[in-house]
Amino acid sequence: MTSSIEENIQSIRKKINDACIRAGRNPDEVTLIAVSKTKPVNAVREAMKSGQRVFGENKVQELRTKTSEITEDLSWHMIGHLQLNKVKYLPGMVDMIHSVDSIALAEQIEKEAAKKDTIMDILCEVNVADEDSKFGLKPSETADFIKTIAPFQHIRVKGLMTVAPATDNPEENRIYFHNLRKLMVDINEKNIDNILLSELSMGMTGDFEIAVEEGATFVRVGTAIFGERNYNK
Ligand SMILES: *Cc1c(COP(=O)(O)O)cnc(C)c1O
Repeated sequence: MTSSIEENIQSIRKKINDACIRAGRNPDEVTLIAVSKTKPVNAVREAMKSGQRVFGENKVQELRTKTSEITEDLSWHMIGHLQLNKVKYLPGMVDMIHSVDSIALAEQIEKEAAKKDTIMDILCEVNVADEDSKFGLKPSETADFIKTIAPFQHIRVKGLMTVAPATDNPEENRIYFHNLRKLMVDINEKNIDNILLSELSMGMTGDFEIAVEEGATFVRVGTAIFGERNYNK
């Protein structure tokens, strides 16, 4: 790949815009999260040159390192599976946690956000294709889960997140994105106190255009911006 990070971002923004036009949506409803996990600080800085301000990471330690090295006013999102003992670092550091899928985790976020006297925006992760290998709530248990955590004073449940199956044909994931949106609508119709979901975090490098057509408000794109990741370094 010879294109620069800036060029990649411009091209993805264009594809998001085009998908919005096809779906009759306003492009302002869709936030591109640049997933910078495993990539160096200078890659983040390169992305910032094209106006990118929202970044996603999946490890707390990497978030801590990057946010201490890059002190500009960016919006960091925690998108990865989270261990309870790492939650304490997140309130005040990230704007949103996308991967809440257990009561224990929600309780820990509640406790740590309360200590910092802040409210943490979260998404509930749903295993929408019901894959054995994936984290996330079953679709059928998501409404009850949200009902249980709705009274928590230091958590604001903003919506749902999913990681769709890996596939060479992104059209195969359309049904899962469609179903996640439908699940959000169904949950809103239950009129749970404190709960009005509006955010859908879905779509990655291989399938973000389909996700936008199906209602994504956050797309999480790594490889198409920063290139392939090397985990063996
Ligand atoms: C790594 C990661 C992404 C980005 O994946 P790409 O295919 O590189 O765009 C998105 N979401 C989550 C949860 C991730 O861990």
